[in-house]
Order: sequence, then C-alpha cells, then structure tokens
Amino acid sequence: MQKIQMKTPLVEMDGDEMTRILWQMIKDTLLLPYIDLKTEYYDLGLPHRDETGDQVTVDAANAIKKYGVGVKCATITPNSQRMEEYKLHSMWKSPNATIRAILDGTVFRAPIMVRGIEPYIRGWQAPITIARHAYGDIYKATELKVPGPGRAELVFTAEDGSEQRALIHDFQGAGILQGMHNTAASITSFARACFNFALDTKQDLWFSTKDTISKTYDHSFKDIFAELYEKEYRQAFEDAGIEYFYTLIDDAVARVIRSKGGFIWACKNYDGDVMSDMVATVFGSLSMMTSVLVSPEGNYEYEAAHGTVTRHYYRYLKGETTSTNPVATIYAWTGALRKRGQLDGLPELSAFADKLDKAVMDTIESGVMTGDLASQFQGQAQSVHTQGFLNAVAERL
Ligand code: NAP
Ligand code: MG
Repeated sequence: MQKIQMKTPLVEMDGDEMTRILWQMIKDTLLLPYIDLKTEYYDLGLPHRDETGDQVTVDAANAIKKYGVGVKCATITPNSQRMEEYKLHSMWKSPNATIRAILDGTVFRAPIMVRGIEPYIRGWQAPITIARHAYGDIYKATELKVPGPGRAELVFTAEDGSEQRALIHDFQGAGILQGMHNTAASITSFARACFNFALDTKQDLWFSTKDTISKTYDHSFKDIFAELYEKEYRQAFEDAGIEYFYTLIDDAVARVIRSKGGFIWACKNYDGDVMSDMVATVFGSLSMMTSVLVSPEGNYEYEAAHGTVTRHYYRYLKGETTSTNPVATIYAWTGALRKRGQLDGLPELSAFADKLDKAVMDTIESGVMTGDLASQFQGQAQSVHTQGFLNAVAERL
C-alpha cells in the first residue's frame, strides 16, 4: 500500500508515564503503517526536560511557531514528590504553561461524544467547547491577611510618577485582601483566539462575565470582545452563518444547561477552570476530552486533556497489561494531521484523520472499548486492553 505523504513536519512532543507508552503504541498501530509520518521530535519526558534545563520545552514551543501545528503527549508537572522520584535539578514549570506563554494561546477543550455513553444532561446532543482565558485574575493575585483595623487602598503609580488611588475598605477588625490584574494585550489575544476558533470550527461563540457587578474589571473584558468583534469579525461571522453572543455568567449557566450544545463558551480564567470540569463530568469522562491550544497568530497545539495516568503506569511497570483509554491521544494526533492537511493542501491526509476518528467511534459504538468506558456504556460492552482496542480500531480502519 502506498503511504500518505506529508509536506511539512508536525511538531511531535513526547511525554511521560502511561501516555508515553500509549504514544508509541498509537504511532506503531495506527499511524506509521498508513502515513509517511514527518515529524520534528521533541522529547518532553521529564528526564530529558531535566537534562536540558527545560530548554527542550522552549524549543518545542518555538518550533510550533515556525511550523504552525504541534501534537503533545501528556507530561508530568513536577511537584516535591516528583523532585524526589526523578532526582530533578529544579522544580520545572508545567510544560503546558511554558508553551502557552510562548504562543500566547488559548486552550479549547471539547468532549468526544459516542453513542452509548450519554451525557448526564440529556439535552446536550453536541459537544460544548470551553475556551478558558489562561492568564491573570486570581491565578496571579497578591493576597494579604489584614491583622486588625486600618485602611486598605488600591494605588497605581504611572511611569511619570502620577498616582491613582481608590479606597478598598476601612477595616474595623481583621480581614483579608486580594489584588488581581489582567492586561489589555492578554484579553485581546484571548478574544482573537476565540473568534478565530469559532470561524475555524463554524460554531457560535458565547462569552460571559460578571460585568454588572464588576463595572470596570469584567466590563473591560466585555468591551474588548465587543470592539474587536465589530471591527474585525462581524462580517466573517455573518458570512459563516455563526453568532457571537455575550451574556452574564449566571444567565449563561442557565442557558448552557438548557442548550443542545454545539457551541464554544469562552470563560474568564476562574470560570473556565470550574466550568470545564463541570462540562467534562457531564459528558462522562476525562479520558474522552480533547484539548487544543490556539494562538492569536493561528498556531495550533493538540493534546489530550487528561494527565499521564500515573496509577496505570505503575501497574504497567509491574508487568501488568492495562486498559488505559487512548482515544483522546488518538484525537490529538488526528486533530494535528487534519490541520496539517488543511494548511498544506493535502486532502488525503485530512481524510485519513476523519477516517481514523470514525474508526475509533465505530469501534466503541460496536461495543469494544477500554475499561473506563465499559463501566459507563449503555449496551453490551466488551472491555479490552489498550493494544486490543488499538488493534480493533486498526482492523476497522
Ligand atoms: P490523570 O493522569 O488524568 O489521571 C487521573 C485518573 O483519571 C487516572 O488515575 C484514571 O483513573 C483516570 N484517567 C485519566 N485518563 C485516563 C485514560 N486515558 N484512561 C483511563 N483512565 C484515565 O491525572 P493525575 O493522576 O492527577 O495526574 C498524573 C500526572 O499527569 C501528574 O504528574 C500531572 O502533573 C500530569 N498532568 C498532565 C497534564 C498534561 O500534560 N496536559 C494534565 C493533567 C495532569 P483510575 O486510576 O481510577 O483508572
Ligand atoms: Mg481545574
């Protein structure tokens, strides 16, 4: 059989633990037999990040900027226990955070829906994609404990020395304080990534904040989105037949629950943190969530939303065969290959990605799946190990 040819390499970022094992299995079983796979390989596995002083993560991010499309395996974010376990030189930052900062990107997370695994909310017939603004607000806040009576003020000193002051509170007793910020540049990049992704995927875009209460802070988010939309995107949205819709966060929650799904919901940092877990849970499983980082310049990085599945890896190391779900990681690959196909004018490559997605879907719907799904499946489910599942998909493909 003639293999499908590629033009531009994908930026391939290998990772850690069980997902690193899945990575190789997926390539061997589902990609290399069919595609003349061109990748530029970066090993983001923790040992290699440590050896390179995390330079490899920065290099990978810059390669995504150069080529436009990357695919990433889940990676360990070091904590003190991992420092010990891997004898690390330093507690390296989360690779996702590093890559996101370099690409100035927004993360879009969407569930993979299959018949037989029904969302808890019956009305949700199509995926809801959450776009989370991943900069600032409480995640970069400064906090103080107020010991007793006193005055708290907000002070901004401009470069020319001039000051703006606002009273926060005259404390009569002990309390707490928090100072948070965001930047016009970051909010604009977020808005741009959301508008571009909506056009790219032909879905309506919803955005929500609490602008009635937060009349300057949240209202600025609303204004920046609205201005950019009017200036640069309204016409394109109308041509594509999609809608940009702003509403208050509490109204959005009510509407989302009553909706049929099939749209993007852009959220501020905290709202996105909370709502993405809510949406993932309603759709059934973290192992069936995809994630794509989109930069305002139109660079794409695809990955699974779950982590490295450590508990399965420890069982794997003991020689057990595991039933780890590879679906989200397969979809990361197909997302990246499809995008590469679109950018390079290679319809066979994009068609291959569609066929592989469908083969995965059909395999599960026929009743063959990994253990995590089998326990939720409405119908006769045959629970198989990871390689067995990949083989079943390959056979269908
Ligand atoms: P996790 O790897 O997502 O796993 C949590 C649990 O969810 C697993 O123990 C497993 O449950 C279930 N699960 C997740 N993915 C699954 C899959 N594909 N198939 C079957 N079951 C799956 O989260 P974690 O244990 O909190 O984190 C592990 C490591 O991943 C950490 O070092 C963390 O830093 C890293 N992490 C990386 C990313 C990323 O790179 N994007 C994201 C999150 C976490 P059972 O054990 O009950 O089967
Ligand atoms: Mg969270």
